[in-house]
Amino acid sequence: MNVTHYNQQIVFRSPKEDLLDDILSILKVQSILLVCDKVFDLIGTKETFDFSGISVSVFDDFSPNPQYGDILKGVKLFTDNKCDCIVAVGGGSTIDVAKCIKLFSTLNPDEHFSSKKYRNSSTPLIAVPTTAGTGSESTHFAVVYRDGVKHSVGYKSLLPDFAIIKPALLNTLPVYQKRCTVLDALCQAIESWWSVNSTEESRIYSRAAVDLIWKHIDRYCEGFSDVLENIAMGANCSGRAINITFTTAPHAMSYILTSRYGIPHGHAVALCLPAVWRFMCRNLNYTVDKRGESFVADIFSRIASALGAQSPIEAANMLERQFDRLGITCPPAICNLQDEVRLLSQSVNITRLSNSPVLLGQRSVETIYTEVLCSNSKYDD
Ligand code: NAD
Repeated sequence: MNVTHYNQQIVFRSPKEDLLDDILSILKVQSILLVCDKVFDLIGTKETFDFSGISVSVFDDFSPNPQYGDILKGVKLFTDNKCDCIVAVGGGSTIDVAKCIKLFSTLNPDEHFSSKKYRNSSTPLIAVPTTAGTGSESTHFAVVYRDGVKHSVGYKSLLPDFAIIKPALLNTLPVYQKRCTVLDALCQAIESWWSVNSTEESRIYSRAAVDLIWKHIDRYCEGFSDVLENIAMGANCSGRAINITFTTAPHAMSYILTSRYGIPHGHAVALCLPAVWRFMCRNLNYTVDKRGESFVADIFSRIASALGAQSPIEAANMLERQFDRLGITCPPAICNLQDEVRLLSQSVNITRLSNSPVLLGQRSVETIYTEVLCSNSKYDD
Protein backbone atom coordinates (compact mmCIF):
# COMPACT_ATOMS: atom_id res chain seq x y z
CA MET A 1 0.00 0.00 0.00
CA ASN A 2 1.26 3.50 -0.90
CA VAL A 3 0.26 6.73 0.87
CA THR A 4 1.36 10.29 0.17
CA HIS A 5 1.98 12.38 3.30
CA TYR A 6 2.97 15.95 2.48
CA ASN A 7 6.00 15.52 0.16
CA GLN A 8 6.66 11.95 1.19
CA GLN A 9 5.74 8.54 -0.20
CA ILE A 10 4.96 5.99 2.52
CA VAL A 11 5.18 2.41 1.37
CA PHE A 12 3.66 -0.24 3.65
CA ARG A 13 4.78 -3.83 3.48
CA SER A 14 5.59 -4.07 -0.15
CA PRO A 15 5.42 -7.67 -1.31
CA LYS A 16 8.57 -6.92 -3.33
CA GLU A 17 11.62 -7.31 -1.13
CA ASP A 18 13.75 -5.31 -3.55
CA LEU A 19 11.56 -2.23 -3.27
CA LEU A 20 14.42 -0.06 -2.05
CA ASP A 21 16.41 -1.20 -5.04
CA ASP A 22 13.56 -0.04 -7.31
CA ILE A 23 13.46 3.38 -5.66
CA LEU A 24 17.23 3.79 -5.94
CA SER A 25 17.08 2.84 -9.59
CA ILE A 26 14.22 5.29 -10.33
CA LEU A 27 16.21 8.01 -8.57
CA LYS A 28 19.32 7.01 -10.63
CA VAL A 29 21.35 6.82 -7.43
CA GLN A 30 25.04 6.02 -7.77
CA SER A 31 26.45 6.41 -4.28
CA ILE A 32 24.47 6.06 -1.05
CA LEU A 33 25.30 6.91 2.51
CA LEU A 34 23.78 4.03 4.49
CA VAL A 35 23.09 5.15 8.06
CA CYS A 36 22.46 2.20 10.33
CA ASP A 37 23.27 0.93 13.81
CA LYS A 38 24.13 -2.50 15.11
CA VAL A 39 20.67 -3.82 14.19
CA PHE A 40 21.78 -3.78 10.58
CA ASP A 41 23.45 -7.17 10.90
CA LEU A 42 20.91 -8.51 13.40
CA ILE A 43 17.89 -7.99 11.18
CA GLY A 44 19.64 -9.35 8.12
CA THR A 45 19.40 -6.07 6.21
CA LYS A 46 22.15 -7.16 3.84
CA GLU A 47 19.87 -9.96 2.68
CA THR A 48 16.72 -7.81 2.76
CA PHE A 49 18.08 -5.03 0.56
CA ASP A 50 19.99 -5.35 -2.64
CA PHE A 51 22.51 -2.56 -3.15
CA SER A 52 24.28 -4.19 -6.09
CA GLY A 53 25.74 -1.79 -8.63
CA ILE A 54 25.67 1.11 -6.15
CA SER A 55 28.58 2.43 -4.14
CA VAL A 56 27.68 2.16 -0.41
CA SER A 57 29.36 4.13 2.40
CA VAL A 58 28.23 2.83 5.79
CA PHE A 59 27.91 5.24 8.70
CA ASP A 60 27.28 3.58 12.07
CA ASP A 61 29.58 5.59 14.34
CA PHE A 62 26.91 7.07 16.64
CA SER A 63 25.02 6.18 19.82
CA PRO A 64 21.29 6.12 20.66
CA ASN A 65 20.19 9.70 21.42
CA PRO A 66 22.76 10.98 18.88
CA GLN A 67 25.40 13.60 19.61
CA TYR A 68 26.14 16.62 17.41
CA GLY A 69 29.80 15.53 17.05
CA ASP A 70 28.69 12.11 15.70
CA ILE A 71 26.64 13.82 13.03
CA LEU A 72 29.55 15.95 11.85
CA LYS A 73 31.49 12.71 11.24
CA GLY A 74 28.57 11.50 9.12
CA VAL A 75 28.49 14.79 7.17
CA LYS A 76 32.21 14.35 6.38
CA LEU A 77 31.70 10.80 5.10
CA PHE A 78 28.73 11.98 3.02
CA THR A 79 30.69 14.82 1.36
CA ASP A 80 34.02 12.98 1.03
CA ASN A 81 32.29 10.14 -0.83
CA LYS A 82 30.10 12.46 -2.90
CA CYS A 83 26.98 10.52 -1.91
CA ASP A 84 23.81 11.36 -3.85
CA CYS A 85 21.28 9.65 -1.53
CA ILE A 86 20.92 8.84 2.19
CA VAL A 87 19.27 5.61 3.37
CA ALA A 88 18.54 5.17 7.10
CA VAL A 89 17.77 1.71 8.47
CA GLY A 90 17.15 1.70 12.22
CA GLY A 91 15.17 3.21 15.09
CA GLY A 92 14.40 6.86 15.74
CA SER A 93 18.02 7.59 16.67
CA THR A 94 19.33 6.29 13.34
CA ILE A 95 16.70 8.11 11.30
CA ASP A 96 17.39 11.35 13.19
CA VAL A 97 21.14 11.00 12.48
CA ALA A 98 20.40 10.58 8.77
CA LYS A 99 18.09 13.62 8.79
CA CYS A 100 20.71 15.77 10.51
CA ILE A 101 23.44 14.65 8.11
CA LYS A 102 21.24 15.76 5.23
CA LEU A 103 20.45 19.11 6.86
CA PHE A 104 23.85 19.97 8.29
CA SER A 105 25.57 19.15 4.98
CA THR A 106 23.88 22.30 3.63
CA LEU A 107 25.73 24.51 6.13
CA ASN A 108 28.93 26.30 5.15
CA PRO A 109 31.96 24.99 7.10
CA ASP A 110 32.03 28.10 9.30
CA GLU A 111 28.32 27.85 10.20
CA HIS A 112 27.07 26.08 13.31
CA PHE A 113 23.78 24.17 13.33
CA SER A 114 22.30 26.49 15.94
CA SER A 115 22.60 29.37 13.42
CA LYS A 116 19.72 27.64 11.61
CA LYS A 117 20.99 28.86 8.24
CA TYR A 118 19.65 25.72 6.64
CA ARG A 119 19.16 25.42 2.91
CA ASN A 120 17.08 22.98 0.95
CA SER A 121 18.97 19.91 -0.09
CA SER A 122 17.93 17.86 -3.11
CA THR A 123 19.57 14.71 -1.68
CA PRO A 124 16.86 12.07 -1.44
CA LEU A 125 16.38 10.60 2.05
CA ILE A 126 14.86 7.15 2.48
CA ALA A 127 13.90 5.96 5.97
CA VAL A 128 13.30 2.33 6.93
CA PRO A 129 12.23 2.18 10.63
CA THR A 130 13.16 -0.88 12.67
CA THR A 131 11.23 0.19 15.78
CA ALA A 132 7.49 0.96 16.02
CA GLY A 133 7.80 4.03 18.17
CA THR A 134 8.92 7.51 17.23
CA GLY A 135 7.39 7.72 13.75
CA SER A 136 10.52 9.74 12.87
CA GLU A 137 10.27 8.35 9.34
CA SER A 138 7.26 10.65 8.86
CA THR A 139 8.22 13.80 10.76
CA HIS A 140 10.14 16.89 9.67
CA PHE A 141 12.18 17.21 12.84
CA ALA A 142 15.02 15.43 14.58
CA VAL A 143 16.54 15.29 18.04
CA VAL A 144 20.24 15.86 18.60
CA TYR A 145 22.23 16.26 21.84
CA ARG A 146 25.09 18.72 22.37
CA ASP A 147 26.98 19.00 25.67
CA GLY A 148 24.19 17.04 27.38
CA VAL A 149 21.50 19.44 26.13
CA LYS A 150 18.69 18.16 23.92
CA HIS A 151 17.97 20.17 20.76
CA SER A 152 14.99 19.71 18.48
CA VAL A 153 15.88 20.58 14.92
CA GLY A 154 13.00 21.29 12.56
CA TYR A 155 13.09 21.98 8.84
CA LYS A 156 10.77 20.99 6.02
CA SER A 157 13.36 19.02 4.03
CA LEU A 158 13.94 16.77 7.06
CA LEU A 159 10.79 14.86 6.15
CA PRO A 160 12.18 11.74 4.41
CA ASP A 161 11.20 11.49 0.74
CA PHE A 162 10.33 7.82 1.20
CA ALA A 163 9.33 5.86 4.31
CA ILE A 164 9.43 2.12 3.79
CA ILE A 165 7.53 0.30 6.53
CA LYS A 166 8.49 -3.36 6.82
CA PRO A 167 6.76 -4.77 9.93
CA ALA A 168 8.87 -7.95 9.88
CA LEU A 169 11.89 -5.84 10.89
CA LEU A 170 10.30 -5.52 14.35
CA ASN A 171 10.75 -9.25 15.00
CA THR A 172 14.21 -8.87 16.47
CA LEU A 173 13.37 -6.06 18.92
CA PRO A 174 13.83 -7.25 22.51
CA VAL A 175 10.57 -7.30 24.56
CA TYR A 176 11.49 -4.33 26.76
CA GLN A 177 12.44 -2.25 23.67
CA LYS A 178 9.10 -3.22 22.11
CA ARG A 179 7.27 -1.97 25.18
CA CYS A 180 9.16 1.31 25.49
CA THR A 181 8.92 2.18 21.81
CA VAL A 182 5.26 1.26 21.36
CA LEU A 183 4.33 3.27 24.47
CA ASP A 184 6.16 6.25 22.98
CA ALA A 185 3.97 5.87 19.88
CA LEU A 186 0.77 5.54 21.96
CA CYS A 187 1.61 8.58 24.12
CA GLN A 188 2.56 10.65 21.07
CA ALA A 189 -0.80 9.87 19.51
CA ILE A 190 -2.72 10.82 22.66
CA GLU A 191 -0.69 14.01 23.18
CA SER A 192 -1.14 15.01 19.56
CA TRP A 193 -4.91 14.42 19.88
CA TRP A 194 -5.23 16.86 22.79
CA SER A 195 -2.55 19.33 21.54
CA VAL A 196 -3.58 22.96 21.03
CA ASN A 197 -2.14 22.54 17.50
CA SER A 198 -4.42 19.63 16.58
CA THR A 199 -6.28 19.82 13.28
CA GLU A 200 -8.97 17.65 11.76
CA GLU A 201 -6.24 15.83 9.82
CA SER A 202 -3.93 15.29 12.80
CA ARG A 203 -6.82 13.98 14.90
CA ILE A 204 -7.59 11.38 12.22
CA TYR A 205 -3.98 10.11 12.48
CA SER A 206 -4.12 10.19 16.29
CA ARG A 207 -7.35 8.24 16.36
CA ALA A 208 -6.01 5.63 13.92
CA ALA A 209 -2.81 5.27 15.96
CA VAL A 210 -4.64 4.87 19.28
CA ASP A 211 -7.07 2.35 17.78
CA LEU A 212 -4.36 0.25 16.17
CA ILE A 213 -1.93 0.31 19.08
CA TRP A 214 -4.40 -0.07 21.96
CA LYS A 215 -6.13 -3.04 20.32
CA HIS A 216 -2.92 -4.93 19.62
CA ILE A 217 -0.48 -3.83 22.32
CA ASP A 218 -0.79 -6.95 24.49
CA ARG A 219 -0.16 -9.43 21.68
CA TYR A 220 2.68 -7.25 20.36
CA CYS A 221 4.37 -7.10 23.75
CA GLU A 222 3.90 -10.84 24.17
CA GLY A 223 5.84 -11.37 20.94
CA PHE A 224 3.06 -12.44 18.53
CA SER A 225 3.98 -11.53 14.97
CA ASP A 226 0.43 -11.46 13.55
CA VAL A 227 -0.01 -7.91 14.92
CA LEU A 228 3.26 -6.41 13.69
CA GLU A 229 1.61 -4.80 10.70
CA ASN A 230 -1.04 -3.07 12.84
CA ILE A 231 1.53 -1.83 15.33
CA ALA A 232 3.91 -0.58 12.61
CA MET A 233 1.06 1.26 10.93
CA GLY A 234 -0.13 2.68 14.26
CA ALA A 235 3.34 4.01 15.06
CA ASN A 236 3.61 5.61 11.64
CA CYS A 237 0.20 7.30 12.10
CA SER A 238 1.42 8.58 15.45
CA GLY A 239 4.46 10.11 13.68
CA ARG A 240 2.22 11.72 11.08
CA ALA A 241 0.07 13.19 13.88
CA ILE A 242 2.99 14.83 15.73
CA ASN A 243 4.44 15.99 12.43
CA ILE A 244 1.49 18.42 12.47
CA THR A 245 1.08 19.15 16.19
CA PHE A 246 4.35 18.37 18.03
CA THR A 247 4.17 16.68 21.45
CA THR A 248 2.99 18.15 24.78
CA ALA A 249 3.68 18.06 28.53
CA PRO A 250 4.34 14.32 29.09
CA HIS A 251 7.17 14.46 26.53
CA ALA A 252 8.51 17.76 27.90
CA MET A 253 8.54 16.30 31.44
CA SER A 254 10.04 12.96 30.40
CA TYR A 255 13.49 14.12 29.25
CA ILE A 256 14.86 14.72 32.75
CA LEU A 257 13.66 11.24 33.83
CA THR A 258 15.73 9.80 30.99
CA SER A 259 18.85 11.84 31.70
CA ARG A 260 18.65 11.63 35.52
CA TYR A 261 17.55 8.01 36.02
CA GLY A 262 18.58 6.46 32.68
CA ILE A 263 14.97 5.51 31.93
CA PRO A 264 14.40 4.90 28.17
CA HIS A 265 12.40 7.55 26.35
CA GLY A 266 9.07 5.67 25.91
CA HIS A 267 9.17 4.38 29.50
CA ALA A 268 9.73 7.93 30.82
CA VAL A 269 6.89 9.41 28.74
CA ALA A 270 4.50 6.64 29.85
CA LEU A 271 5.32 7.39 33.50
CA CYS A 272 4.28 11.02 33.03
CA LEU A 273 1.21 10.82 30.78
CA PRO A 274 -1.46 9.47 33.18
CA ALA A 275 -0.56 12.02 35.89
CA VAL A 276 -0.52 14.88 33.36
CA TRP A 277 -3.92 13.82 32.02
CA ARG A 278 -5.44 13.57 35.53
CA PHE A 279 -4.04 17.00 36.39
CA MET A 280 -5.53 18.54 33.23
CA CYS A 281 -8.92 16.91 33.96
CA ARG A 282 -8.92 18.46 37.43
CA ASN A 283 -8.00 21.89 36.02
CA LEU A 284 -10.12 22.17 32.90
CA ASN A 285 -11.22 25.66 33.96
CA TYR A 286 -7.63 26.75 33.18
CA THR A 287 -7.98 25.73 29.53
CA VAL A 288 -5.59 27.64 27.25
CA ASP A 289 -6.67 26.04 23.97
CA LYS A 290 -8.35 28.87 22.07
CA ARG A 291 -11.14 26.50 21.05
CA GLY A 292 -12.37 26.52 24.65
CA GLU A 293 -13.00 24.32 27.66
CA SER A 294 -15.89 22.33 26.20
CA PHE A 295 -13.82 21.55 23.08
CA VAL A 296 -11.00 20.20 25.25
CA ALA A 297 -13.44 18.26 27.45
CA ASP A 298 -14.91 16.71 24.32
CA ILE A 299 -11.43 15.75 23.02
CA PHE A 300 -10.61 14.14 26.39
CA SER A 301 -13.88 12.17 26.24
CA ARG A 302 -13.15 11.02 22.70
CA ILE A 303 -9.69 9.79 23.68
CA ALA A 304 -11.17 8.01 26.71
CA SER A 305 -13.80 6.35 24.59
CA ALA A 306 -11.18 5.23 22.00
CA LEU A 307 -9.42 3.53 24.93
CA GLY A 308 -12.69 1.89 26.01
CA ALA A 309 -13.13 3.96 29.18
CA GLN A 310 -16.24 5.77 30.46
CA SER A 311 -14.42 8.97 31.44
CA PRO A 312 -11.03 10.65 30.96
CA ILE A 313 -10.04 10.01 34.59
CA GLU A 314 -10.95 6.34 34.22
CA ALA A 315 -8.91 6.24 30.99
CA ALA A 316 -5.85 7.80 32.66
CA ASN A 317 -6.05 5.27 35.49
CA MET A 318 -6.59 2.44 33.03
CA LEU A 319 -3.51 3.49 31.05
CA GLU A 320 -1.49 3.59 34.24
CA ARG A 321 -2.55 0.07 35.23
CA GLN A 322 -1.68 -1.18 31.75
CA PHE A 323 1.73 0.52 31.92
CA ASP A 324 2.30 -1.08 35.36
CA ARG A 325 1.50 -4.47 33.86
CA LEU A 326 4.06 -3.82 31.12
CA GLY A 327 6.75 -3.15 33.72
CA ILE A 328 6.73 0.64 33.45
CA THR A 329 7.95 1.19 36.97
CA CYS A 330 8.78 4.39 38.86
CA PRO A 331 12.38 5.39 39.58
CA PRO A 332 13.81 3.85 42.78
CA ALA A 333 12.68 5.30 46.13
CA ILE A 334 13.67 8.94 46.50
CA CYS A 335 15.11 10.08 49.87
CA ASN A 336 14.10 13.71 49.81
CA LEU A 337 11.00 13.88 47.65
CA GLN A 338 10.54 17.65 47.87
CA ASP A 339 14.09 18.48 46.76
CA GLU A 340 13.94 15.90 43.99
CA VAL A 341 10.61 17.23 42.68
CA ARG A 342 12.00 20.77 42.67
CA LEU A 343 15.09 19.66 40.78
CA LEU A 344 13.04 17.80 38.16
CA SER A 345 10.61 20.71 37.74
CA GLN A 346 13.34 23.29 37.27
CA SER A 347 14.73 21.31 34.34
CA VAL A 348 11.49 21.48 32.35
CA ASN A 349 11.39 24.16 29.72
CA ILE A 350 8.07 25.79 30.68
CA THR A 351 7.54 27.22 27.19
CA ARG A 352 7.63 23.64 25.85
CA LEU A 353 4.51 22.90 27.89
CA SER A 354 2.50 25.41 25.93
CA ASN A 355 1.21 22.86 23.40
CA SER A 356 -0.86 21.36 26.22
CA PRO A 357 -4.52 22.41 26.30
CA VAL A 358 -4.56 23.29 30.02
CA LEU A 359 -2.29 25.87 31.65
CA LEU A 360 0.77 24.19 33.16
CA GLY A 361 3.35 26.21 35.10
CA GLN A 362 6.14 25.45 37.55
CA ARG A 363 3.76 24.61 40.45
CA SER A 364 1.61 22.32 38.29
CA VAL A 365 4.69 20.47 37.10
CA GLU A 366 5.78 19.99 40.73
CA THR A 367 2.36 18.52 41.59
CA ILE A 368 2.55 16.16 38.63
CA TYR A 369 6.10 15.00 39.37
CA THR A 370 5.09 14.33 42.99
CA GLU A 371 2.29 12.10 41.71
CA VAL A 372 4.66 10.36 39.29
CA LEU A 373 7.25 9.65 41.99
CA CYS A 374 4.71 8.52 44.63
CA SER A 375 3.12 5.40 43.25
CA ASN A 376 0.57 5.29 46.12
CA SER A 377 -2.84 6.95 45.76
CA LYS A 378 -2.66 6.91 41.98
CA TYR A 379 -6.09 5.55 41.33
CA ASP A 380 -8.17 7.98 43.32
CA ASP A 381 -11.08 8.45 40.89
P1 NAD B 1 16.56 3.85 19.14
O1 NAD B 1 16.63 4.16 17.70
O2 NAD B 1 17.38 4.70 20.07
O3 NAD B 1 16.91 2.31 19.35
C1 NAD B 1 16.89 1.76 20.65
C2 NAD B 1 17.69 0.48 20.66
O4 NAD B 1 17.00 -0.53 19.91
C3 NAD B 1 19.07 0.62 20.00
O5 NAD B 1 20.00 -0.05 20.80
C4 NAD B 1 18.91 -0.08 18.66
O6 NAD B 1 20.12 -0.63 18.20
C5 NAD B 1 17.88 -1.13 18.97
N1 NAD B 1 17.06 -1.58 17.84
C6 NAD B 1 16.39 -0.79 16.97
N2 NAD B 1 15.69 -1.55 16.09
C7 NAD B 1 15.93 -2.85 16.41
C8 NAD B 1 15.48 -4.11 15.90
N3 NAD B 1 14.60 -4.21 14.89
N4 NAD B 1 15.94 -5.24 16.49
C9 NAD B 1 16.80 -5.18 17.56
N5 NAD B 1 17.25 -4.02 18.10
C10 NAD B 1 16.81 -2.87 17.54
O7 NAD B 1 15.04 3.87 19.67
P2 NAD B 1 13.76 4.69 19.22
O8 NAD B 1 12.85 4.69 20.36
O9 NAD B 1 13.25 4.20 17.90
O10 NAD B 1 14.32 6.18 18.98
C11 NAD B 1 14.55 7.05 20.07
C12 NAD B 1 15.15 8.34 19.54
O11 NAD B 1 14.24 8.99 18.64
C13 NAD B 1 15.41 9.34 20.67
O12 NAD B 1 16.64 10.00 20.43
C14 NAD B 1 14.23 10.32 20.56
O13 NAD B 1 14.56 11.59 21.07
C15 NAD B 1 14.06 10.36 19.04
N6 NAD B 1 12.72 10.79 18.59
C16 NAD B 1 12.63 11.37 17.38
C17 NAD B 1 11.40 11.80 16.89
C18 NAD B 1 11.32 12.45 15.55
O14 NAD B 1 10.23 12.70 15.06
N7 NAD B 1 12.43 12.76 14.94
C19 NAD B 1 10.22 11.60 17.63
C20 NAD B 1 10.33 10.98 18.88
C21 NAD B 1 11.59 10.57 19.35
